[in-house]
Amino acid sequence: MSSPNPATAGTVLVLNSGSSSIKFRLIEPESGNSPAHGLIERIGEPEGRIVFHHTTGVDERNDAIPDHRTGLRAMLEMLEGLGRPLHEVGIVAVGHRLVHGGKVFYEPTLIDDDVVRAVDELSVLAPLHNPANVVGMEVAREELPEVPHVGVFDTAFFHGLPAHASTYAIDRDVARKYDIRRYGFHGTSHEYVSGRAAEFLGRDIAKLNLIVLHLGNGASASAIAGGNPIDTSMGLTPLEGLVMGTRSGDIDPGVVMHLNRAAGLKVDAIDDLLNRHSGLKGLSGVNDFRALLKLVGEGDEDARLAYDVYVHRIRKYLGAYTFELGGVDAIVFTGGVGENNVDVRRDSLAGLDRLGIVVDDARNTADGDGERRISADSSHVEVLVIPTNEELAIARAAVQFARR
Ligand code: ADP
Repeated sequence: MSSPNPATAGTVLVLNSGSSSIKFRLIEPESGNSPAHGLIERIGEPEGRIVFHHTTGVDERNDAIPDHRTGLRAMLEMLEGLGRPLHEVGIVAVGHRLVHGGKVFYEPTLIDDDVVRAVDELSVLAPLHNPANVVGMEVAREELPEVPHVGVFDTAFFHGLPAHASTYAIDRDVARKYDIRRYGFHGTSHEYVSGRAAEFLGRDIAKLNLIVLHLGNGASASAIAGGNPIDTSMGLTPLEGLVMGTRSGDIDPGVVMHLNRAAGLKVDAIDDLLNRHSGLKGLSGVNDFRALLKLVGEGDEDARLAYDVYVHRIRKYLGAYTFELGGVDAIVFTGGVGENNVDVRRDSLAGLDRLGIVVDDARNTADGDGERRISADSSHVEVLVIPTNEELAIARAAVQFARR
């Protein structure tokens, strides 16, 4: 992603519309400053909630938010309430985080009616995400018609995965007919973090082999050679790969058939089970990592097993990607868990000194929330923590269109 012209003034509004929530952030793309951000949640429920962070404090209110339009209007009113009318805040573009771009979208895209329709058609591949993205685009375009709206797709960075990594070994005609392949997700984060890692190391990304572990509520790994992803853990949907807060990650597809035949579960119930009631939650009862660690600390055996399964899966991917890359220069942790959790970073890389990977305990446990190295000086492989900033990456992509 090229960096924007520093002369460009203005702020980008970045929107992330989920099925019952909207996250928003105003970002000045050059500096990365964010004068306001917030969350509108429980849309459609009897009591909704709006949390609005701005330069002078935090406002919260609990009101019914019947639909996305009401939520977005409330957001715009709050932004106006900052004391300056919106046109003075200078929103020059709206950047939309969009989930599934299928084979069609692989770069930031100016949103028009055709794009909205195409994203809607891709809902068959992402039924939990794309419909909410469509509503967000429609409403925001109506409420803010004067500025360009730009879609940045979670799948885009992985568009060029080598065929041997993107292809499932199933009947080729069925795969072609139904667009079944591995698409990958969290691409904006993997691209941003890998670029930052190269800058942090002062190295040319074209000469680096990186493994990025994005560990948040959702979690994914990627192997990046010379700036280009050669593999990633998520597939047709964001269900494949690492163990996540509520998603199973890798599983024998035979489990699905078995649940159908033996337990009589229909496809929607299995979808719900694997996406919402599996992963850490399925194993321990909690999906939040801090809650999991608390249970582990109290001696809860289910939580301990959940933690061990989580770390085991990460190590499995690290091993596979190290071989695929033919050696790795840096392993990078990001996302809420990757940026904050000392134990996962230590345990994922424990006992690998024979492979040249040594985490320095003092560096790993030191306070700090910025970009940092946690490997020992003796480690051949650099181990880094790089906070992700998907919204900044989206704002920078969107502002390119504002200048045209
Ligand atoms: P999302 O995928 O929704 O963007 P995040 O990247 O914010 O999620 O990650 C959320 C996860 O990060 C939660 O499981 C949360 O418990 C975990 N997390 C956040 N802060 C910490 C911390 N200090 N220690 C351990 N886990 C943390």
